[in-house]
Amino acid sequence: MRNDERTHALIAERAAEDLYRAARICPENPRGATALAKAVLGKRCFRIVPRASIPRSALVWDNRQPVIQLCAGLSSRELNHCAAHELGEWHLRMHNYHGPEPEELASRIAASLCVPSKAFFAARAALGDNLRVLSQAFGVSESLMALRFAECLGSATALITPTRVRTRGAPWAWPSSPEAWRELMRRAPNDGMHVRRLRDARGRVVICQR
Ligand SMILES: [Zn+2]
Repeated sequence: MRNDERTHALIAERAAEDLYRAARICPENPRGATALAKAVLGKRCFRIVPRASIPRSALVWDNRQPVIQLCAGLSSRELNHCAAHELGEWHLRMHNYHGPEPEELASRIAASLCVPSKAFFAARAALGDNLRVLSQAFGVSESLMALRFAECLGSATALITPTRVRTRGAPWAWPSSPEAWRELMRRAPNDGMHVRRLRDARGRVVICQR
């Protein structure tokens, strides 16, 4: 698992650097993933499709041209994330990625595109450590921003959602059973861990090293 984690971290950071370079956009001054996707894939790379015909977005090919389908009615935050995710998928296809968890990796690239590390450090210096303020500044969810904190700063972090747990940052002896996770949450404050319920999505908790 740790090997996958390190490999994914490297691939995502490099993919973001490559894509910003290809787009000729400075990662210190990001303009959002839709601008990035248009600069890389072409101005007409987006197609709005009826709601519920695809999950939220999809990468398809039309006469060998990559097209990002987006469901009608997405919020600007969802648009940003979907454009970044599909651009991540396009990058992985272009590099013939056949490793584990391609969907997770595309989302990880998306996080690095939405919040490039240089822009993260500059924003943190200007705005402070507040998760909500920073997530709004970058037009991303608090979940994504919490993971970027860990990826950029290296603090051991777990994002617990109703369907899965994602861990980032320094190696940590994370639990392997639901009972052990509940126990960790109970003991976290005494063990020097910080527990935070996210406000912009239901049932999401972040635990991190203080
Ligand atoms: Zn996908």
